[in-house]
Amino acid sequence: KLYNQVQETKGNIRVFCRCRPLTKEEVLSGCTTIVDFDAAKEGDIGIMTGESTKKIFKFDRVYTPKDGQAEVYADASPLVTSVLDGYNVCIFAYGQTGTGKTFTMEGNEQNRGVNYRTLEELFKIAAERKETFNYDIAVSVLEVYNEQIRDLLATFPSTKKLEVRQAAEGFHHVPGIVESKVENIKQVWDVLQAGSNARAVGSNNVNEHSSRSHCMLCITVRARNIMNGESTKSKLWLIDLAGSERLAKTDVQGERLKEAQNINRSLSALGDVMSALATKSSHIPYRNSKLTHLLQDSLSGESKALMFVQIGPSNNDLGETLSSLNFASRVR
Ligand code: ADP
Ligand code: MG
Repeated sequence: KLYNQVQETKGNIRVFCRCRPLTKEEVLSGCTTIVDFDAAKEGDIGIMTGESTKKIFKFDRVYTPKDGQAEVYADASPLVTSVLDGYNVCIFAYGQTGTGKTFTMEGNEQNRGVNYRTLEELFKIAAERKETFNYDIAVSVLEVYNEQIRDLLATFPSTKKLEVRQAAEGFHHVPGIVESKVENIKQVWDVLQAGSNARAVGSNNVNEHSSRSHCMLCITVRARNIMNGESTKSKLWLIDLAGSERLAKTDVQGERLKEAQNINRSLSALGDVMSALATKSSHIPYRNSKLTHLLQDSLSGESKALMFVQIGPSNNDLGETLSSLNFASRVR
């Protein structure tokens, strides 16, 4: 399989670029497409930066607006399912608000996204291996907003601040976080619903709030080999990042300024960590944001990472699109 070849010859960080279709509103207001998919099969995406100028970016995969959820998941599947073999894995959706991050990760009931498809496949493989492995699967749902961690599965919101701590054995964890054991996809669905309902509490505009916070689903897999009794614990993080867009200077005051600075800081910290990993740097700067600090154990030289860089096709978004593609090129 092509994917496995890519996997063996490359490091552990992959970037898939996905472009959504033009929206009805964009069509009606006369927007044009600035994206060229002629070499999408080879992983190239072209952006028309002017009437006759084009900038080409190279990724591991490029999805056109016609590619559906199943095609996207098929390419991510070998990576996400490797959590059952003991790998730590992180998947991110990065991009401007409105480009399809939530569509890719969560999707909807007609168009299930990566999160649901992943858990469905994990249960399927676990069942197939039940003669040799005993798997325990648990999920946590967190949100990071303004550098604060919120547990979206906590029944009674804790008054204590949730913090990342280092245990005596060296690993990082968040004491007190709810880990909900799941045994089938129906239970997962209920947990995900509970998480998204909790997300809405306390915010007057759910969509705005979710575009300014990182939504993090953590799947913890405990595997025990029935033959030899060996056990492993590994984690898969599925992360819908806050919108990467720069705000107009006139919009940014007070609370919005603080939010924008926190988003900016955590996204740059993530970029720094990933590019340090990609270049095999000896110092990985995890401590610069809550997001990267939380991921410290799961985002390392031995783990696997995939970033979906999401873009829109419209000429109106040229600046943000270039900025997202530049960011994603740096982490690869
Ligand atoms: P984000 O989470 O990045 O802000 P959303 O996932 O909410 O963006 O997507 C914005 C809108 O575009 C939604 O209505 C979504 O259903 C639609 N959309 C995004 N990506 C696609 C796609 N690949 N195909 C069809 N519709 C899409
Ligand atoms: Mg979203």
